[in-house]
Amino acid sequence: MNEMTRSKIVCTIGPASRSEGVLVKMIEAGMDVARINMSHEDHPTAKKTLETIRSVDDTIAVLIDLQGPKIRIGEMQEPVELETGNEFRISVEDFVGDEHRVSVSHKELPDDVNPGDFIAINDGIVRLMVKSTEGSEVVTEIVQGGPISSRKGVNVPGIRLSCHLPTEKDLDDLDLAAEIEPDLIALSFVLDADDVKRVDDIVRENGPKNVDLISKIEHKLAIDNYDEILRESHGVMIARGDLGIEAPIEEVPVLQRDLIRKANMWARPSIVATHMLESMTHESMPTRAEVSDVAHAIFDRADAVMLSGETAMGHNPPAAVSLMNRIIRRAEKRITPVDPMDITSPKKMIVEVIGNLVYNTVSLLPDKIDGIVTATRSGFTARWISKFRPPTNIYAVARDATVMRRLRLLWGVHSVKYEQDLDSVDDLVKEAVRTVFHQGLLDIGKDIVFTSGVKHIPGRTNVVGIFHVKDLVS
Ligand code: PEP
Repeated sequence: MNEMTRSKIVCTIGPASRSEGVLVKMIEAGMDVARINMSHEDHPTAKKTLETIRSVDDTIAVLIDLQGPKIRIGEMQEPVELETGNEFRISVEDFVGDEHRVSVSHKELPDDVNPGDFIAINDGIVRLMVKSTEGSEVVTEIVQGGPISSRKGVNVPGIRLSCHLPTEKDLDDLDLAAEIEPDLIALSFVLDADDVKRVDDIVRENGPKNVDLISKIEHKLAIDNYDEILRESHGVMIARGDLGIEAPIEEVPVLQRDLIRKANMWARPSIVATHMLESMTHESMPTRAEVSDVAHAIFDRADAVMLSGETAMGHNPPAAVSLMNRIIRRAEKRITPVDPMDITSPKKMIVEVIGNLVYNTVSLLPDKIDGIVTATRSGFTARWISKFRPPTNIYAVARDATVMRRLRLLWGVHSVKYEQDLDSVDDLVKEAVRTVFHQGLLDIGKDIVFTSGVKHIPGRTNVVGIFHVKDLVS
């Protein structure tokens, strides 16, 4: 079996990493997906970044991360320290804030909150309790003091605010996405399936034509509505930054495990994000706890782990990717096999039965089978094979470059381009296996498990077989 990592690496691109030279090094170090965070990028920069990535390596998937209904405080004269027990006002008027009052970007905030609700500022460091609303102002008591400064983020845990996805800014960014055609779009602050459907409708109508929607799970309501969100999404991101403010911080590791497990059950790829190797933003080595965090995301069966500030503005982005790659390689040697029946979805689809069959075949014949070859038109079959985490590589042969890029996010899947459009199963098996073999990925003396759909129809996986490589390639 070839030595490739199974779990994938998503890297946020920013000032430290958008040059061609750094991108090349990050790709060599193991980057699979490049994330452009629209909370921090303007359109010309985002467009240029995507073009640079495509020119360097057009097999890397590009993910555009929409800001969503993120609330921020306004400008402040200078950073201030809020003191526990004092009163603090949040106003929808525009002015420069101080230690008594600050403005906020969400103009309906006084209508959306009630006495007793909590408001968090600056990554949840400062916590306020709403006492009352007075016209355009929310009057609060500081229950946990701390520093605040211009444009720090605001969260109102558990509350459905009247601003929702997609915001005006997101619509603007979706227009950009239609123009530059990323492979994945991440939706911030998804609360329910309707949020995903609204964006899906826009994308279907305006483009991009081939894109998968990744719902970021970072709000209490997204956890409550997780099943319906999963149904409408192609994948999820466990966005632990905001999730750790919206939910009690000690819940995050448990939520991470449960959310990944359910996504895995429904063959939706999951990305674990935020603070994974945070200290590598400034240091050359991560902490032991960070290394352990990455490894545990792999043990939890995440498809991908993500770097944020480490690669966007860190002092050595390729070093962070390289270290993440090493941790993954080591950790995935110790993934505990799971009984396929324990993770089978209640829907019992044929593709899932085939995925289960493939897993069992590979597991029972570890020395004979050199890989799984799947001919996939949309990536659907590959997702349901990957979900079982078979102990060999999954080679997904696809014709479409955008499908190949989207497959970069899936655990254990390596896409291989082939040109043919064949209807007969015999021809399809032969051509697909030859294509993978000629890339030097298969041993001529071994067997492979092949799976696809007759007539190669997306969503209709109905063929599985074991073939000797030599019989097909000679
Ligand atoms: C997060 O909150 O963890 C996250 C990934 O989202 P963002 O970087 O957009 O805050």
